[in-house]
Amino acid sequence: MISRKIEEFTRKSSMIRAMFEEGNRLKKLYGEDNVFDFSIGNPEIEPPEPVQLALLKVVESEIPGKHRYMSNAGYDFACAAIAEYVNKYKGSKLTPSHIVMTVGAAGALNVVLKTILDPGDEVIVFSPYFVEYGFYIDNYAGKTVVIPTDSETFQPDPVLLEKTITKNTKAILINTPNNPTGVIYSEEVLQKLNEVIEKKQKEYNSTLYVISDEPYDRIVYDGAVVPSVFKAFKNSIIVNSFSKSLALPGERIGYIAVNDRIDDVETLMSGLILCNRILGYVNAPALMQRVVAECADQVVDPAIYQERRDLLYNHLVSLGFSCVKPQGAFYLFPKTPIEDDVEFARRAAKYNLLVVPGSGFGCPGHVRISYCVSKKTILNSFEAFEKLAKEFK
Ligand code: PLP
Repeated sequence: MISRKIEEFTRKSSMIRAMFEEGNRLKKLYGEDNVFDFSIGNPEIEPPEPVQLALLKVVESEIPGKHRYMSNAGYDFACAAIAEYVNKYKGSKLTPSHIVMTVGAAGALNVVLKTILDPGDEVIVFSPYFVEYGFYIDNYAGKTVVIPTDSETFQPDPVLLEKTITKNTKAILINTPNNPTGVIYSEEVLQKLNEVIEKKQKEYNSTLYVISDEPYDRIVYDGAVVPSVFKAFKNSIIVNSFSKSLALPGERIGYIAVNDRIDDVETLMSGLILCNRILGYVNAPALMQRVVAECADQVVDPAIYQERRDLLYNHLVSLGFSCVKPQGAFYLFPKTPIEDDVEFARRAAKYNLLVVPGSGFGCPGHVRISYCVSKKTILNSFEAFEKLAKEFK
């Protein structure tokens, strides 16, 4: 028998995966071209050419021991390349000793949470949030505490944060650009959050880590910039990956970058490196470390996603849907015309339109539409959206 808890999680778990499976079923029934699967953030575009060439070169080269274990933090040269890359975009002065190579951003988050949490410690997340956070925090007997963001802008509210931090709060987990809203948390909001955090750290004589999950930080539109969390918060840790920026989600390569301003940063790094090992990851995939060491600064062309955002956003707005225009990532998060977002997603599925209810992100009354699908799928879906909208006129 599996554990009661996992049995319950399996039952409740991931509407995203459920829609993805439903999509596969519908595609078998109606054919690929007649199902509009906006359910999952699985990029349709291929990795940039230099990434593919770097992978070929690594596979073909005769580097002795290239398939062996290495230090649990990753290859020194990979950590050095990532430190340089992070410093370029975050205005930091990290050295390779502040980097741990990980199994994607998901692996990175698990390593960080295992390292810092004692049972019962609270982790604050802002809704809507990436649904896996609750499971990851639970993995280490932490408690997820959810605060809603502003209902119009989806920016976090510093006043609510101040009311929510307790002596048991260990971390605040943010995700910017955000999945599912596409919103970038503004510099001004980050500054206000920092004032609250500084105040509360003094009040409780505690360390409050800000964990910033940023796999979409290179997929931004209209010249938007993602403010540096390293500048905004002293006790900050970035978890990131190349799943979206290089369209490599199946290759499971990411990293943890730790602010060098954190007190006793060496102890934190030792904990992270140990947890990378004892969680069973042992180390990040060897071949992919070599690839990203060479190609970290490559990126898929955000203009491709921007065009798809514009097509879909403009169409939805013209049909009367209310939606915040995403500044980054590849999701739209419109309000549903009825309160029951699960019912709305069901009604959409009648037209072979697969979207994920906002309830799955702790934000009912919305659905998430993932537009990292082909332009053809987007254009072909317009009629289905029109039919759906008509149902609610
Ligand atoms: N965090 C967010 C907000 C995500 O959207 C995802 C994947 O979709 C992840 C983390 C996990 O990323 P990775 O594939 O790098 O583990």
